[in-house]
Amino acid sequence: MEKFKVTKEIEFDYGHRVPFHKSKCFNCHGHRAKVQVTLEGKLVNIMGNNDFGMVMDFSKIKEILKIKIHDKFDHKFLLWTQDPLYEKIIDIPGTVEINFVPTAENLAKYCYTIIQEELHKCSFNGTITNVRFYETPTSYADYEGVQDNSKVFEEIRENILEDVTDIIEDRIDEKIQDEEDKILREELKQICLENDNSEFIKKDKLYHKIKG
Ligand SMILES: [Zn+2]
Repeated sequence: MEKFKVTKEIEFDYGHRVPFHKSKCFNCHGHRAKVQVTLEGKLVNIMGNNDFGMVMDFSKIKEILKIKIHDKFDHKFLLWTQDPLYEKIIDIPGTVEINFVPTAENLAKYCYTIIQEELHKCSFNGTITNVRFYETPTSYADYEGVQDNSKVFEEIRENILEDVTDIIEDRIDEKIQDEEDKILREELKQICLENDNSEFIKKDKLYHKIKG
């Protein structure tokens, strides 16, 4: 299957502090953040659709990043609700409460979650492969979401199915010499051309029938 990836980025300025850091990040300070989101999917193949020939229109991704991330955090101070200085800081204008320590890692994950929610709303038929959060021009964190093992298993299953099909076909040639078994042999070969789970079960049953 063909795969395409598209990436869009947005920048904003924010302040934060990391309350348990033993060095400079303990202080209230500011950063120029850059968020890059990479989406993966098939090209939209509906003639007349705005996104025809695209994974997703860049302007749509930009709108999500602008409204849900930039406009929420730009020129704001990101304050963790469990910060020991919470009561001292919360009433300062421009403070935004968040329920995690504002490290680059957690901000990457937060952005991923927000973007994913918005993509679900617009029925995006693909996945987010990565969100990269730059805290400085030389420091960034990546969040890739929770690994979807079902895809990996599906690939393994297909490989096994191909191997099993080859073995069965070899055994048929070895085992069935008799002309009377020709019909069964043709039936089995036909089934071997198929490639899904129910067909696998049929092949297995037939194999045992022949073997017996
Ligand atoms: Zn910092």
